[in-house]
Amino acid sequence: MATYVFGHTNPDSDSIVGAISLSYLKNQLGEDCIPTRQGEISPETEFILNKFGGTLPELKTSYAGENVYIIDYSDKAQAPKDIMEATILGIVDHHKLGDLTTDTPLECWIRPIGCSNTVVKEMYDHYKIEIPKDIAGMMMLAILSDTVIFKSPTCTKVDTKAVKELAEICGVEDYKTLAMEMFIAKSQVEGASARNLNTRDYKEFDMHGTKVGVGQLEMVDISVLDSRIDELFADMQLMKEEGGLHTIMMLLTDIMKEGSRILVLSDDNSKVEAAFKTKLENNQAWLEGVLSRKKQVIPFLQPQF
Ligand code: MG
Ligand code: MG
Ligand code: MG
Repeated sequence: MATYVFGHTNPDSDSIVGAISLSYLKNQLGEDCIPTRQGEISPETEFILNKFGGTLPELKTSYAGENVYIIDYSDKAQAPKDIMEATILGIVDHHKLGDLTTDTPLECWIRPIGCSNTVVKEMYDHYKIEIPKDIAGMMMLAILSDTVIFKSPTCTKVDTKAVKELAEICGVEDYKTLAMEMFIAKSQVEGASARNLNTRDYKEFDMHGTKVGVGQLEMVDISVLDSRIDELFADMQLMKEEGGLHTIMMLLTDIMKEGSRILVLSDDNSKVEAAFKTKLENNQAWLEGVLSRKKQVIPFLQPQF
């Protein structure tokens, strides 16, 4: 029986590449693993797969009765609906510990570092397995994406070291220029619907019994969205109603200015204001220096609930 390896809902590059890189490692170790994904990929992930000739993992949203490894999350809200009917053999992640539990012992590789693919890199090193060129290239870009080219406060020495070693394996000398090309691909918004933009990197959280949704767009220049703010808000309102959310928030993150413009719709704006020690004007604020949802947003929002 094959084991499926997949990342979170609304998969980002770390989730897709992680499914590929972890499956390959497990296969080398004698397990029979298949990388899958829970949803459509982003323009950024498409850029990475095209650049290094990666194969798109197959779409699979139901896992009852299957053996699985999950990567880049451990929150039920980001898992397939029937995850509790699957056997979780292991978790590889770099987020706060979520609310998934298991009936059987499992393998756990969770580290407070910049990217799940950095954890996978450490696993390859641990088992002394050689990383193929194409997989090394994809892992390198996944780490550069998650760490925002080393600018994110989540980035550690382990991540920069991993990128340098992977760059050597895949033969890319100027990896920062390649990463900028990737972020430019990620910043394409023309022709994209408001729903596409709001859900491109969107996660829901159960914050002590209250549902909160936080989306993020990491862009080279967020001013291209200036004319679309009303449209984004209108769609956020629909998402809030559809999901029964107390609060929905979008982070428009400018990776050059190194900060995030937040758009907020909440049953109680004061919770968001208290979390970020700011005043919302027209349901918006600028959060200087905020690049990371996992490190600079969720830990401040969650205690408010
Ligand atoms: Mg992720
Ligand atoms: Mg990640
Ligand atoms: Mg990210």
